[in-house]
Amino acid sequence: MADRLYYQDSYLRAFSARVVERGEADGHPFVTLDRTAFYPGGGGQPPDTGKLAGIPVLEAQEDGRGEVLHFLADASQSLVPGMELTGEIDWPRRFDHMQQHTGQHILSAAFIQAASAETVAFHLGTDYTTIDLNRTGLTTAQVDAAEALANAVIAENRSVIARFVSDDEIGRLPLRRPPKADGPIRVVQVAGFDWSGCGGTHVGSTAAVGLIKIVKVERRGAETRITFLCGGRALADYGRKHRLTLALMERFSAGESDVIPAIERLDADALTLRKMLREAEQARAQAEASALWTQAPQQNSIRLVQAVYRDRSTEAVKSLSLALQAQTRCIALLAWVGADGRVQLTFVSAPGTGADMGTLLRSAVTPLGGRGGGRPEWAQGGLPDASQVETALNAARAALGF
Ligand SMILES: [Zn+2]
Repeated sequence: MADRLYYQDSYLRAFSARVVERGEADGHPFVTLDRTAFYPGGGGQPPDTGKLAGIPVLEAQEDGRGEVLHFLADASQSLVPGMELTGEIDWPRRFDHMQQHTGQHILSAAFIQAASAETVAFHLGTDYTTIDLNRTGLTTAQVDAAEALANAVIAENRSVIARFVSDDEIGRLPLRRPPKADGPIRVVQVAGFDWSGCGGTHVGSTAAVGLIKIVKVERRGAETRITFLCGGRALADYGRKHRLTLALMERFSAGESDVIPAIERLDADALTLRKMLREAEQARAQAEASALWTQAPQQNSIRLVQAVYRDRSTEAVKSLSLALQAQTRCIALLAWVGADGRVQLTFVSAPGTGADMGTLLRSAVTPLGGRGGGRPEWAQGGLPDASQVETALNAARAALGF
């Protein structure tokens, strides 16, 4: 079994070892070593990547025997059992994981003190780290208090020590969570603050976590998910958000605290303008409908308006349809043709004309392969081909006796 060097020294980046075994799992080549600094993943922390004798290690993984498999990027036969080599872990990735993982221990302990909330799950992702707390209904003040306490513990630069402890001693430690594993238990201790059974890699003192920032709190059933960033990730997030703030300040020519009021003013202006535009459109539609009605042919006191619109919005045609429907004994057969050739027909009738627009529209478009229908006063439909618009409208017109 490989000697796990990261248990003793989580800051070990390079090490020498001897190849014990070469094999394949699911078609991927791997080697095992007599000693390794590669963390094989587990307890919420992702596995290490790095290099063995210059060959990229895609990830380390623990197998059923408890052996650490180092999966290699290429199947080269250069690593043979008995060979001495130098291993090197991807340090920026590992140190990031150490910052997030120690930060998680501190934050989980802080949530117990600030909100009596226990951590039931931990996930260290590529972009974010999350813990799930065993309760809901946390107030903003409680979340803020937990974050403040965690950052105070970081600022106090307390030592973080990971060591295996005897069964005897374990009973005397105030463990945050009871140990899951049998046999010798590894305890990670944040001096005077938290004791936790854990096999992961941690920074040497709390100051190395740098900073903890909670970025999201969301309810998930009976639990609360806390998303947070530690160390380098928190700093990068601050940088992104600072650039965003500067861009907003420049965009609105406003100071930091004036950006939101500036957006609110813009919102209010847009609302007023939309209302004015709608009123102007209605007034225009009414004037146009009145003019169309005056010029429209008349039979049996019914006036028939027929028109095709290609350069208007569907909303404008709808406003016009409504305005025509309000004209005395008016029937309107309107078509809208979009720039992409899409066709929409709208037939409307004022009350009391006795004509049924639903039936009229269906009988006009069905022979042309179109579809549509509606109520006696309002019907809509479409045609497969824009060149059939006049044919459909003329058929409907003829059916009305015009
Ligand atoms: Zn842990």
